[in-house]
Amino acid sequence: MSKLIYKRVVIKDHPYAPKDYRLKLHRVVMEKHLGRYLKPEEVVHHRDRNHLNNKISNLKLLPNEGEHTKIHRQALEEAKRQKKKRWLEQELNEEQKQVLTNIDLSTKLCNVCNTEKSLSCFHKDKSKPYGVASACKTCRSITEKSRYNSRFK
Ligand SMILES: [Zn+2]
Ligand SMILES: [Zn+2]
Repeated sequence: MSKLIYKRVVIKDHPYAPKDYRLKLHRVVMEKHLGRYLKPEEVVHHRDRNHLNNKISNLKLLPNEGEHTKIHRQALEEAKRQKKKRWLEQELNEEQKQVLTNIDLSTKLCNVCNTEKSLSCFHKDKSKPYGVASACKTCRSITEKSRYNSRFK
């Protein structure tokens, strides 16, 4: 995760204050709310991702960084899902319609040999946009053969 800038507050008599007494504001807000000091491994997460919004309603206490990473990963995946859905449900403008009517959805470019091939030339793969693998069957079998050969040399 990238380094983020947090609001800090100077509290001289905080027992866990660093040398410059500058404590992360969101952690102090959580401590005041809980009426106890935070353990060093505990993480305070900003629900709206805005690290400058330190209202208690925006803060969530998590037991450790692992739980924290999980929340961010889930949010990222949800955002991706929403983005895909938005694109599919979106009303197209004239320019996009023009472009899209010229696309042949029965063929696809193979990522390896760079040839336009019918979808039946690809193995099925539901995780991919067209529902088929990115390399065609021919290219796939070539890479598999070379992988097999290099293993038994
Ligand atoms: Zn967070
Ligand atoms: Zn190919």
